[in-house]
This record gives sequence, structure tokens and C-alpha cells, in this order.
Amino acid sequence: MRKNQLKGRDLVELAVAEYGNKLVLMSAFNPEDVIISYWLSEIAPNTPILFIDTKKHFPETLAYVDRITKQLKLTNVKILEPDPQLLINSDPDGHLWEVQVNRCCWLRKVEPLERAIKAGDYKALITGRRRGQNTDRIDVEFIEKDPHDRTKYNPLLDWTRLDRDQYMIDHDLPHHPLYHLGYLSIGCAPCTTPVYRGEDARAGRWRHTRLTNASDGKTECGLHVAQHQG
Ligand code: SF4
Repeated sequence: MRKNQLKGRDLVELAVAEYGNKLVLMSAFNPEDVIISYWLSEIAPNTPILFIDTKKHFPETLAYVDRITKQLKLTNVKILEPDPQLLINSDPDGHLWEVQVNRCCWLRKVEPLERAIKAGDYKALITGRRRGQNTDRIDVEFIEKDPHDRTKYNPLLDWTRLDRDQYMIDHDLPHHPLYHLGYLSIGCAPCTTPVYRGEDARAGRWRHTRLTNASDGKTECGLHVAQHQG
């Protein structure tokens, strides 16, 4: 099979073969990330998995990260954190998310990730994005380049939510405990609500930006915007 036809686990194998220890998984420990972590645990268990502790997560998220790390015997989960001085300067009372979501996401997510990628001199990233998650992801490719010329692999692009959930059942991979309470896409606690019938899975993210017109309606945290051409 030609390289540009690879997807799923085969694409993760290719990424490992091409980049070895210069490859990382960007992980929020959402369902897609857990599936890719499962594959990495079999293919190359020491591949770095970068999780950003924004200091705004649900306690259930941190417990879930711990649970999955142990279940899959992941040996190289790296917990990234915001720069303390940046937090003091820009978000001293922790309420920046209410008024400037993009700035908050930059200092709590984008900056720590970029810092870690530079420190590790990583050349390639895996993400768990699916095209069906929202319209912003329709044009994403299985293999692409980010603005820094790093290679980005998106092995689950053509999976549906049903594909994903069936795979998790078949392989005994648990969901985040809040998933079953309607939190279909889970980020920081202040910016995540349950999803209601008829909404897309990411409709619960940054809902307040659409209710208050604080911005045009945020749909991405900026990680993929910073990493991706869009
Ligand atoms: S998701 Fe919300 S709380 Fe988390 S970094 Fe972004 S704006 Fe801040």
C-alpha cells in the first residue's frame, strides 16, 4: 500500500518508523487519543505522550489520565504545565477564560506545548482528530505539515464516533467518566458543558463564547491552529 493511503494503526506504525524518538502524541486523553495510545503501547510504548495540565481540568480528567496510563502501561507520559510567571502576569485571578478565551488557551495550552516540542526537538506529531468532529476539520489530511515544517499524522480522520466507540468496547478501553453524563468532548472545566440532543459532539466546548458573544464562537483551543496551517 502506498504511504499516502495509510491510515489508522498502519499510519501510526509508519510515523514510528519514520521518526522514532522524534515523534510525539499530542493527547488530551480523549477517546481518540486513548485509542492511539493503545496502539503506541503495542508498537512503541516509550513514545512521548504530551498531556497539558492547564490547571483548569476536571478532577475526573486527571484521575482518568492516571487510570489510562496504568491500564496501558504507558511509560512516557509527559505532563506539561503553563509558565507560572505568565499565569501571574496574565491570569492572576484565574478568570481569563471568561473574557479572553484565545489568550487563556494560548498561555495554558499553546505556549506549554510549543515549549515542550522545542525542548524535545520533536519533528513529528500524532493527533486524534476526526473530520466528523466539526466542520473546521473537514479539510485536514492524514499526513500534513504544520507551519514549523513538522509532520503531523492524523490516523483517525475518517473514523466515525460509532467506529471509535465500538473499538473502545472491543478493546476494553474505558471512556472518561463524564462522557456518560453527556460530556462528549471534554476540555477545561470552565469551558466544557454537556452536549444536548441534536448538537455536534464539540458543541459543549466554549459554549459561553457563543452565548455571550465574547468572540465569534470558539471551536478550537488553538493547538491545532498553531500546529496546523489553519
Ligand atoms: S479551554 Fe478555557 S480554561 Fe482552558 S485554556 Fe482554554 S479558555 Fe482557558
